[in-house]
Amino acid sequence: MTDPTSLDELELMLRSDAHKALAAVRTRLDVLEIDRDTVAYQRLLLVKGAAQSQLGDTEDGARVVREVKAWAEARDETELLAHSHRRLSALFRRVGDPALMLEHAVAAVDLLDADTADPVRADHLLGLADALGASGSYQESVARYREASLLADRSGRRYLQLAVLNNLAFTLYEAGLTDEAVTIGEQLRAELQRDGQVMMRHYGETIARTLMAVGRYDEAAAVLAPLCENGGADVNGEDCDGLVLALLALAEVRRMTGAFDRAQEALHRAHRLGEAYALNGRLIEILREQAELFAAQDRYREAFETFRDFHRADLELRAAERDSRAQTLNAIFEAAEARRSSDYFRELSVRDPLTGLHNRRHVDARLGELLDADPEPLTIGLVDLDHFKRINDTRSHAVGDEVLRRVAVLLQRAAERVEGGLAARIGGEEFLVLLPGVPPEAGVDVLEDLRREVSGQDWSEVTEGIPVTTSIGVAHAPGDARDYSALLKVADQNLYVAKDGGRDRVSA
Ligand code: GH3
Ligand code: MG
Ligand code: MG
Repeated sequence: MTDPTSLDELELMLRSDAHKALAAVRTRLDVLEIDRDTVAYQRLLLVKGAAQSQLGDTEDGARVVREVKAWAEARDETELLAHSHRRLSALFRRVGDPALMLEHAVAAVDLLDADTADPVRADHLLGLADALGASGSYQESVARYREASLLADRSGRRYLQLAVLNNLAFTLYEAGLTDEAVTIGEQLRAELQRDGQVMMRHYGETIARTLMAVGRYDEAAAVLAPLCENGGADVNGEDCDGLVLALLALAEVRRMTGAFDRAQEALHRAHRLGEAYALNGRLIEILREQAELFAAQDRYREAFETFRDFHRADLELRAAERDSRAQTLNAIFEAAEARRSSDYFRELSVRDPLTGLHNRRHVDARLGELLDADPEPLTIGLVDLDHFKRINDTRSHAVGDEVLRRVAVLLQRAAERVEGGLAARIGGEEFLVLLPGVPPEAGVDVLEDLRREVSGQDWSEVTEGIPVTTSIGVAHAPGDARDYSALLKVADQNLYVAKDGGRDRVSA
């Protein structure tokens, strides 16, 4: 099981047949006596998560990947962490978020080091190139494809070489660099012919699209026709999405050359398949092509109606995609327990995941409400940990996190001493305490007690000797200020005074 080739093979399988890969991973995860606390096991989980999301179970797949990422982070397993980012990048591609796709692709490449094997490096560069292309940075994207291509050649991994060519050709096509796209497409075609293998339909579609872009319709049709033969049986276990794409391109190229009946035939087949496999996005592309096809035949009324259906369906799909994207984001960022209840789920959106305190968004809103309401007295305390960086640097980030969690408990307790009191984490090691209805002197007392509680805690078992103290800047409404930003500014100035005065103190 720990044999790297078997993992390699599984990852390869993922590219050609996600169903098969998922089944194989499940068998391995279930049957074998594996230590879960190993990189090998976690790598298997990553393949599982990727397969799930490829098969449409994006939310659960995302959750699996997120857990592996957390495992890798906790153990400083850099390569596994890089793989997790690579998977997350692919995941965000599926849910259509180029910004997050890019963020994770960059992280995946950043984490590589001199020891990283060529195929891994090539694959991560490929992911980065895809992400750059998806966000419109075509030049940068092409440069990464070139690097990936060199590494793929050096590693001799065929699937990587072909994937790089395919994605490069498609990116050039999307960038409008049609001549270059055709050149790379031709290269891809030559390589595939050399291999003598059945062409994957996704590759065929790329080649055909590049040819269509320069008006070489007959050649495009010649590439597509054989891919669209036989009643839709799998090629290399490829899913039927590839077939639908090929049929769509075939319909389009036939329309362009005036072969309307045969275009309609291809489109009908694409439609039937799209319905059978619930490929909603593709069904919308099919509607659009159908409208074009009506228009090409001067059937304007039908064209108009189909275009209208297309627009309606397109809008609906976008809304559905937004929902699914939100769910996926939650799966990645929020605690696993979030699913237990939707109330808790909603509550999480106003909580800081590390400490469980309210987050900045919530405290901003609450403070705004309080200030807008009756001019009751209100005291706020801006709390910043002293020399916190030292704890991270000389102990560890995990120790730093533990300190933050424990300080948060004390902050929560302080806030609870006042009715309607609230404690929030507003930044890395910065917190805000709201004490509504509390006049200045009483407010300072509460915050002074808090300061003493923090410094008086026994921190020895957490920080091994480093003291933990806080500086607190106080502001009061309406005395110091009446509006939101002015009030925070006073608190911030007082915090600065407390720091300047030697830290571990409250300044009002
Ligand atoms: P000062 O007394 O002047 O406030 O010194 P400081 O070291 O606390 O100040 P600085 O703002 O320079 O450092 C804050 C540090 O907090 C830097 C950052 O690494 C750390 N930090 C921010 N967020 C987190 C977190 O979530 N976990 C951990 N462990 N550290 C964090
Ligand atoms: Mg700070
Ligand atoms: Mg600080």
